[in-house]
Amino acid sequence: MPPERRPPAGITLRGIVKRYGTATVLDSIDLDIAPGEFLTLVGPSGCGKSTLLRTIAGFEPQDAGQVRIGGRAVDALPPAARDVAMVFQSYALYPHMTVAGNIATPLEMRRLSLAERLPLLRLLSPRRPRIRRGIMAEVEAVARQLDILPLMARKPAQLSGGQRQRVALGRAMVRDPAAFLMDEPLSNLDARLRVQMRTELADLHKRLGATFVYVTHDQVEAMTMSDRVALMETGRILQLGTPAALYDTPASMAVARFIGSPPINLLQAEARADGIILAESLRLHADSAVPHGPVTLGLRPESLEPAPAEAPGTLPVTLRRAENLGAEWLLHVVTSAGAALVARVPATAPVPERFSLAIDPARLHLFGADGRRIVTRLGARITA
Ligand code: ADP
Ligand code: MG
Repeated sequence: MPPERRPPAGITLRGIVKRYGTATVLDSIDLDIAPGEFLTLVGPSGCGKSTLLRTIAGFEPQDAGQVRIGGRAVDALPPAARDVAMVFQSYALYPHMTVAGNIATPLEMRRLSLAERLPLLRLLSPRRPRIRRGIMAEVEAVARQLDILPLMARKPAQLSGGQRQRVALGRAMVRDPAAFLMDEPLSNLDARLRVQMRTELADLHKRLGATFVYVTHDQVEAMTMSDRVALMETGRILQLGTPAALYDTPASMAVARFIGSPPINLLQAEARADGIILAESLRLHADSAVPHGPVTLGLRPESLEPAPAEAPGTLPVTLRRAENLGAEWLLHVVTSAGAALVARVPATAPVPERFSLAIDPARLHLFGADGRRIVTRLGARITA
């Protein structure tokens, strides 16, 4: 039996700064990752996700700030001494070794001396067979958990992408690290397999109870697997929270835009003394004072509902295209002011060319001219 798993470690980042030349790639990052948490760093390409992960792993010394893993300052430690396991998109498997050999390698490096790993010389070690048996038992236990036991004798070239990814995970798991760091591990897989591996990774995280720090540019991955998501942009964390918090209460327009597919609809409006004017026919009332001037309304596609044309308090639109997704439709429409919107509605009878959209004011997001969320209760009333 493999030894007891060690308790998961938390990770604390304080004021992490990283520069390449004159470019500041990480701009004073603070982040507390709880022991056993599945935390995802998500954001557009180039925002600094990999750099931050590599900073935690120790591959990339930061210019300022501290990294603590399991309460221990690790800034002076090389990667190997930080006790974290990295899983890459490229798998980085040894092509000449079998699956079993690939998974066993980290344990052999740790438990066998150099001589015991060399051809011929290793035959002289009386303790090697016993240590090897122990290692293989652990390798098998991990392979069983990942459902790759029947593949143990194969070489990486004889595996599918998903199987290779599991072997890479297995190689990380046998190390029983304080935390798993994963950089876009699913991005080389085809769409169907990616969906399946999302579930498998989330299950694996539950079973291991380990700390996962996961990097992806794919907001769906972030939303479906994580306990919490840190949404990054140009070297900063824009918002840190549960997937539901990021979706339901985005702190800024940038967050609202990044999370959700199809993306949130954004509509220009004007905050005045007599309400927030969205269209001639549609005026919203806010509970608390909203600074007068231009504002942006965020409307998720699923919070728009078709209504009869010209119904009071609705937004008249013209249908441009209806996209049938099976269980639901995406209605691409345009308002009389020329703004394009997408409504997500249950599969429906064909909609007429001109109709209206009813807006649930409780599900509206309001952003100020600076892009920040304005917290107010909208929609006590909508008046025509
Ligand atoms: P992400 O993983 O979010 O796509 P990265 O962390 O890889 O982003 O990169 C963040 C920024 O740092 C990018 O602008 C990238 O070009 C730059 N960068 C990354 N590594 C290096 C490097 N070794 N030298 C110079 N610039 C780099
Ligand atoms: Mg990256």
